[in-house]
Amino acid sequence: MMKLRLNTSVEVTGSLQDAPVSSVVRIPIQKKHKPVVKKKQIVGRGQVIAENPTKSAYSLGFVHSSIDGIVEEVLADAIVIGPIPAPKEGEEAVAPPVTELCAELDTLENEELSRKLLELGVDTSRFHASRALIINGLNPEPGVLVSEQLVKDAQETLKIGLQTLERAIKPGTVKLVVAKGKQISLHGCTTVHASDVYPATIDPLVVYAATGSERPDNVDVISISDLFQVGRVAQTKLPLMEAVVSVGDNVYLVPIGMPVQNLLDHAGVQYGSEWKIALNGPMRGTPIFNLAMGIPEKCTAISLIREDACPQVQPNPCINCGECVFVCPARIHPGMLSCNAEFGFYDEARYKNVEACLECGMCTFVCPATRPVMQYILLAKHSLAGKDELVSTCRLQD
Ligand code: SF4
Ligand code: SF4
Repeated sequence: MMKLRLNTSVEVTGSLQDAPVSSVVRIPIQKKHKPVVKKKQIVGRGQVIAENPTKSAYSLGFVHSSIDGIVEEVLADAIVIGPIPAPKEGEEAVAPPVTELCAELDTLENEELSRKLLELGVDTSRFHASRALIINGLNPEPGVLVSEQLVKDAQETLKIGLQTLERAIKPGTVKLVVAKGKQISLHGCTTVHASDVYPATIDPLVVYAATGSERPDNVDVISISDLFQVGRVAQTKLPLMEAVVSVGDNVYLVPIGMPVQNLLDHAGVQYGSEWKIALNGPMRGTPIFNLAMGIPEKCTAISLIREDACPQVQPNPCINCGECVFVCPARIHPGMLSCNAEFGFYDEARYKNVEACLECGMCTFVCPATRPVMQYILLAKHSLAGKDELVSTCRLQD
């Protein structure tokens, strides 16, 4: 079993720090994005490099360059931008285009404002008009400090973010969920206190804490990081170009696409072969195998986890101990579902409500047989998603 403390709330003492500008960025793009730049094109900081052709005002945001540079590669999952080469003798240096401030942000409202936010890089699929809005102010996972750091150091940006959202979606009510015992408030929000012990910090359980209902209609939930990004765009009037990322005890404002290696070097993190590195937190993060990968805009942490703190999962047989059932917040039977998935009985897993899994990772965390319990469940969900709408749309937390 992993040796991790599951409380997520901490006393944040340091300040939000600026990471240095990178000379090379590898900016992630999604399948929905359509690149609008070509190899060897000079781009300016803030210039659109990939669009989302959707007609909806509520969808994935456009992607922008976070540095001045030249497009080195346009790949299926990233656009690589590097330094502009020095001009040859007798040639003039090429100046990158300058991005103009978006003054309209102060006057637009409703869907027009949501659409503009999307064009400026905000993921507007997280909120919709006229629903109740819940702001998850809990740190997302143990060791990830972003939410409490932003509440401490970015009150003005969060306030502007909230005012902008109020003009864009006119939510009926706005609730801020924070850890029990914390005296935290945000302009215009009703504060609700909830457990900070993981997995109580994931969105579906935060919604339950705020509303008393498991799947209420007409409720949107966003994180403090999401709110900060709206506020940052509204405050600077520039496209979204930064992520807020926790590394150890420090939290950085990082240019999107900055290589993970550069951030670790800047943070002065020492690590050897006994450490695993993950994008996001230790419970739900994904392992990083190539430290040249660019930091995505939704990244909340680069986590370093010692090998002996998380033993290798193996396809060991389930010993039917029931530990995973005790900790599962979705009240399903992870051990049994993992066996169904292991042997390809996906329809059986569907019959046993595999879609209710919240993907918190607690079953893998407690399994004494070190089975990849959640990973088997994800396999079943992935296999079912193509043919079963209920499974494909069940991932409530992100
Ligand atoms: S990941 Fe495991 S513990 Fe968490 S909700 Fe899914 S089945 Fe339950
Ligand atoms: S904790 Fe592991 S061994 Fe125990 S029932 Fe769950 S899957 Fe099986």
